[in-house]
Amino acid sequence: MEYAGGVKALDAVSLTVEQGELLAITGPSGSGKSTLLNIMGTLDRPTGGTVEIDGQDVTLLTDRNLSALRARRLGFVFQHFHLTDGLRAWENVATGLLYAGVPRHRRRPLARAALARVGLAHRTGHLPHQLSGGERQRVAIARALVNNPSLVLADEPTGALDTANGAAVLDLLTELNGEGTTIALITHDRDIAARLPRRVEIRDGRVLSDTSDAAAKAVRT
Ligand code: ADP
Repeated sequence: MEYAGGVKALDAVSLTVEQGELLAITGPSGSGKSTLLNIMGTLDRPTGGTVEIDGQDVTLLTDRNLSALRARRLGFVFQHFHLTDGLRAWENVATGLLYAGVPRHRRRPLARAALARVGLAHRTGHLPHQLSGGERQRVAIARALVNNPSLVLADEPTGALDTANGAAVLDLLTELNGEGTTIALITHDRDIAARLPRRVEIRDGRVLSDTSDAAAKAVRT
């Protein structure tokens, strides 16, 4: 992936995420983590190579079809939550269904169910400013999950939280993964990465190490 101006942010990266995985993408600032996440999330198009989601090459899709694919197959969680201030928790979660074409009458019950999954059944009518940081991130996670995506991409999801809330969010992501959700999480925090089953380390736009490769080699030898 080369940005205008000649910055090669990713080079010869090959990464396969299997269904049901929970992996950390780690590396120092500027190593290419966000670029990789944006490409996996179809927010950026690579200047070379292919990106497949559920076996489909998405680099060939039109922008319109990409938006539909994102709405149906992908969930996003951001460091700073990205909730809409004037919307209640359930309405924020329901926006995850809007672009997926889910009819209006079904959005509210699905949003409530997603909030219950993240332990916020008692906060569905709250506005973001009435919630703690940890609760806001759980609303954002519910929004990412509400449509049962093939892959959840989380960019430093604990980065804006204190240690206790960060640990709780990580526990929640681990629990959701235990229920079958595939999650790729970007972090520069080694302690967080150490708690996840697979770690992919990026350095200067390349994969420096992948514990999944190490595990595969150990089985082969
Ligand atoms: P990380 O998420 O690990 O901090 P990034 O993927 O943001 O790394 O950045 C990787 C490299 O690409 C850096 O050298 C960064 O300056 C560059 N870069 C990122 N986004 C852009 C952009 N939109 N235009 C030009 N260069 C960019």
